[in-house]
Amino acid sequence: MTKHYTIPFFVLHKGCPFKCIFCDQNSITGEENVTPDKVPKKIDKYLSTVSSQDAEVDVGFFGGTFTGLKKEEQIAFLDPVQKYIKSGQIKGVRLSTRPDFIDAETLRMLKDLGVRCIELGVQSISDKVLKDSRRGYTSGDVKNASSLIKEYGFILGHQMMLGLPSSDWEAEYLTARAAKDLGAEEVRIYPTLVIKNTELADRWHQTKYVPLDEAEAVERSAKLILYFSSEGIKVIRCGLHASVDLLSGEGMLAGPFHEAFRSKAESRIFYFLLEYIKGSMHSKNKEITLRYNPRDEADFFGFGRENIGIITAICGKAQTERDEKVPKGALSAEVGNKTMIVERSIILSKILKRR
Ligand code: SF4
Repeated sequence: MTKHYTIPFFVLHKGCPFKCIFCDQNSITGEENVTPDKVPKKIDKYLSTVSSQDAEVDVGFFGGTFTGLKKEEQIAFLDPVQKYIKSGQIKGVRLSTRPDFIDAETLRMLKDLGVRCIELGVQSISDKVLKDSRRGYTSGDVKNASSLIKEYGFILGHQMMLGLPSSDWEAEYLTARAAKDLGAEEVRIYPTLVIKNTELADRWHQTKYVPLDEAEAVERSAKLILYFSSEGIKVIRCGLHASVDLLSGEGMLAGPFHEAFRSKAESRIFYFLLEYIKGSMHSKNKEITLRYNPRDEADFFGFGRENIGIITAICGKAQTERDEKVPKGALSAEVGNKTMIVERSIILSKILKRR
């Protein structure tokens, strides 16, 4: 199976005239700002560690508003990548930018320079949430940018945030549905954290903003992962990258940060499946066997084995077995001669309605 890698470069606040209330890029990424002359060295170093036979490697420019840079600066970053694309060592470039910095002329230039995926920092489709987060664009900009990106044949990615001021589950679910309707093929989900030296930090100090607690952020993320996977949309990240600042707590004041946030969300999805089995198999005092795909073992038992309680509640005399035949992400439950395969699609509508 082909493995996919991205060599990440962080273009911090470059070209970004905004100051969104949650953003202090240095704290969030913990990465050094990159300059074009540093690009080839890092690509060479990275490629020397990857076997190109079964790998597809992209170069990524993240962190800022890439298309907000002057045209010459964008070219200066993309130029050094060209020889690697021509030689086939690099498949293409992915970059992140804001929805209001997309136009046809820029897209034509990016296409010619090997960009194949554009991630829009959408954050929310609710105009109220966008306004309250001082994002400086509207849902109309998100729609226009998304259609133009698709029209020019790029892979479209959407980044969305959970727990922004004025946001709630309904707004976040609508944001996810908008990603699907607008043709996003990939998404990143970021729970909002309160980072030092931001306006959100001031609001938090004044008790005007309360971040999501971890359980709620995990719950919403799990529901969104379920939704996106049912629509064939890849969730390429859930939870912020664990920078040194975040790990040490230096840069972060509050919010649902966890090093293994994605695992917690995946564990929660198995909890939803287990709840469904518990509610539908009337298994009290009966022998029941739960089978899971071996690749799901960690998520089935849950982060820190947090699903053990419900597993034991389902099968008093708990029997669990690994089974390659169980589809990845699903569970099989056997009572007597009755076996039920519980796929994620079975629980989707019920879970999405849950508050
Ligand atoms: S647009 Fe992006 S880089 Fe600029 S302040 Fe907002 S989050 Fe930060």
